[in-house]
Amino acid sequence: MKTSYKYLLLAAAFSLAACQQESEDTKSSKETVKQEQAVDKGEVKGAEAKHTETTRVDEHSYGNLDEVELKHLDLELNVNFEARSLEGFVDITFDRLKDGVSTLVLDTRDIDIQKAQYMTDAGWVDTEFDLADKNPVLGSKLTVELDDNTTKARVYYRTQPQASGLQWLTPEQTAGKKHPFVYSQAQAIHARSFIPIQDSPAVRVTYKANLKTPKDLLAVMSAFNEPDTELDGDYHFEMPQAIPPYLIALGVGNLEFKAMSDRTGVYAEPGLLDASVAEFNDTEEMVKVTEEMFGPYRWGRYDLLILPPSFPFGGMENPRLSFITPTVIAGDKSLVNLIAHELAHSWSGNLVTNATWRDFWLNEGFTSYVENRIMEELYGKKRATMERALDVQGLRQEVEALPKGDTILNVNLDGRDPDDAFSGVPYTKGQMFLTYLENKFGREVFDEFLVEYFNSHAFQSLTTEEFKKYLNENLLEKHPGVVSMDEINVWIHEPMLPEMMPNPTSDAFTTIDSKTKAWLGGETQLSEMGSAEWTVHEWLHFINNLPEDLKLEQMKQLDQAFSLTDSTNNEIAHAWLMLAVKTNYDVVMPRLETYLVSIGRRKLIVPLYRELMNTDEGAKFAKRVYKVARPGYHPLAQGTIDEIVGK
Ligand SMILES: [Zn+2]
Repeated sequence: MKTSYKYLLLAAAFSLAACQQESEDTKSSKETVKQEQAVDKGEVKGAEAKHTETTRVDEHSYGNLDEVELKHLDLELNVNFEARSLEGFVDITFDRLKDGVSTLVLDTRDIDIQKAQYMTDAGWVDTEFDLADKNPVLGSKLTVELDDNTTKARVYYRTQPQASGLQWLTPEQTAGKKHPFVYSQAQAIHARSFIPIQDSPAVRVTYKANLKTPKDLLAVMSAFNEPDTELDGDYHFEMPQAIPPYLIALGVGNLEFKAMSDRTGVYAEPGLLDASVAEFNDTEEMVKVTEEMFGPYRWGRYDLLILPPSFPFGGMENPRLSFITPTVIAGDKSLVNLIAHELAHSWSGNLVTNATWRDFWLNEGFTSYVENRIMEELYGKKRATMERALDVQGLRQEVEALPKGDTILNVNLDGRDPDDAFSGVPYTKGQMFLTYLENKFGREVFDEFLVEYFNSHAFQSLTTEEFKKYLNENLLEKHPGVVSMDEINVWIHEPMLPEMMPNPTSDAFTTIDSKTKAWLGGETQLSEMGSAEWTVHEWLHFINNLPEDLKLEQMKQLDQAFSLTDSTNNEIAHAWLMLAVKTNYDVVMPRLETYLVSIGRRKLIVPLYRELMNTDEGAKFAKRVYKVARPGYHPLAQGTIDEIVGK
């Protein structure tokens, strides 16, 4: 996922007391995971996976992971827009890891369970089930009784309108305004709100799904999508590669497809399709350069689904079909590092997966590193360095405001919802850790290490401790005297940013800094800044580094010279609106209102609400605008902003 919470502090964890009470329960989910190479259906020759056994705890799943190992799901669901519900059943195929296993324990949240069955030689038979009271973080434990031999269970269920992993949009909330839209967002622990499942990233399943929808809508999933599917309201999907539950995803709406190459394409509402294709048509090149650097793309097709503007994230790396915010369609490819990021997850995250959410940096640190390598390969060193420098600037600011514990890579979640610990730390600190290793060992050695890491852990999940062991054996000990385990431990287990962290600097940014200084000192005019040649990154650096005590007259000069209030680039607009709120430059208020009502991406809107709440006047404005905007936001964004502004 691309969140880049550069300026975003999430709401404090809720209901900690309740989760601590539950910790007795969750501790029981010790797991002996047999890591096996997943079925690769021969699309690409899979790498040889090592077979290891580890004992694991996932504090975020009730599932009896130590007793049964999920293998495959068959989903039969009716997409009911009127009831805002997915209705149907899931068949769960599993292996038994022990003798005498008598239950299948699953995670659910806000799901109506209607009936449970298991398979016998004579067919399906009804069985008892128990749905426990809801825990505010984990949801409700579902226990299904089994007989001694069965390896297949069926659960009939209905999701509820408030399912945290689904957003149901009215026609008015879409780009085209004529058809409803629904999409899922399962990471981190929201798959359980639309499928009863062992919702742990240590679990891997293949799946098949049949979705029934209104006839005029198209359904897509994180699976094989037939590019020229006919609209008939009856859609079939197959995902032959084993994926963790948080990567199961669906979208249903007035979608059309346009190919960008033989294996890449875009699904979007018709009004957004051409602009999306024009913006993202470097995707095939991105896949190629990533394959050259880090080994084969193992997932068949790579398509993009462009979501309505209310999507709370930048993107979500659902396999074969990344979900993408339309806020990066800038008209000049200036924000396509988002695509590089989601694509990079096809190696780090989707192929090699964090075993628990404490190991989230293994997903996002590696992905941010690979993302930047793709950008360098395709768009050159200058741009890649600027993007790295902007991220590190954001990280340095952010860690000052975060709880110290949340600045640790191998973060202790203490039973909190993983969403509440999200920050730029696993992304940018993780990326800088890998950049540090690259600098120390040299790119050639480090790339070899990465390729082997991806190959040897393909279709497996691993913990931070397992990664450290692998790193020690395959990099540190092979090249002794370069980096010590003590240094690795500082990176992974110590708070804040280590002294040894690389500090990416861009010559272009240094030039801007000195010109800005000259303007602030009254030595030059804005017309002499040389801004005609600036890229979006240079604009962002310029605005982000202006002092927060600028006088209104200076804000006016900036706006007159550069028309910043009217910027159509959502990142530049965000940076300018932040500065305007801080400096009380109220000319922007109508633009700010439009911005907050039309976009639901948390990274762009949450810091603005937070900043507005610092003054009485701002708070009044924020409350009024939020009332209008709230119904259009995703439940996750609503939850975050409710904490800041109030409902
Ligand atoms: Zn990501």
